[in-house]
Amino acid sequence: MPEGPEIRRAADRIAKVVQGRVIERVEFGLPRLQEFEGMLSGVKVNELETRGKALLTHFDNDLTLYSHNQLYGRWYVVKRDRLPKTNRSLRVALHTETHSALLYSASDIEVLTADELTTHKFLARIGPDILSQQLTPQRVVQQLEDAKFSGRKLAHLYLDQGFFAGVGNYLRSEILFEARVNPNLRPKDLSPAQHMALGEATIEISKRAYKTAGITNDLERVAQLKEQGVKRSQFRHHVFARQSRRCYECGTKVTKVELSGRRLYYCASCQSVPE
Ligand SMILES: [Zn+2]
Repeated sequence: MPEGPEIRRAADRIAKVVQGRVIERVEFGLPRLQEFEGMLSGVKVNELETRGKALLTHFDNDLTLYSHNQLYGRWYVVKRDRLPKTNRSLRVALHTETHSALLYSASDIEVLTADELTTHKFLARIGPDILSQQLTPQRVVQQLEDAKFSGRKLAHLYLDQGFFAGVGNYLRSEILFEARVNPNLRPKDLSPAQHMALGEATIEISKRAYKTAGITNDLERVAQLKEQGVKRSQFRHHVFARQSRRCYECGTKVTKVELSGRRLYYCASCQSVPE
């Protein structure tokens, strides 16, 4: 599933062709949404916003197109009406004078008024966005100290969109490694220094993944590994999807476990549980 950084990159590509532009024609593939085609066609898009894995396209008439890609949704940006060859079903088409932004396969799509936006069931329950410019390490620490979260294992918390919006499976393993904390610990088991390390790692790793299209490993190390001919699948992450390979920091073999129903990777030495 795409995670926050991938959704934000998709939003950037769409924003390039629709933000500040009039959408000449809007089409919906789902019959329940077709009543909105007339209301949105001919209206300017003011802004594209992401909240975790949700994408919000704000129109100039106070209506917002909400979409969540779930597992299958995929956006394409093409020259006007040059639809890609695909067997996927077209769900949203935003045509400007020159370009088309097309969403295929997703079904979690709604058109919301400003009021509906504030009470939307998913948007109302999600935590701070990991890519928000306003997010600080101190704010992350606040979440960790919150009674709602402090007694739950980090492995579970870092998949809970109510804790932070936009974190997913690879970011979970990579943030916990970056902070050198064991995934089985709970925030209340950690020292203030470890809370701060998690605060910094949460922001740093998410931003790095956004800027580099998914690389979370140390960028100097990545440059060296590339020079040595190492494949992207091996240099991309510190630990994620690297089971039985050696930890880049200490040489211990990376461990793979299932936690919260999803695969998680960590280094048992770098992320050991204190005695
Ligand atoms: Zn290690």
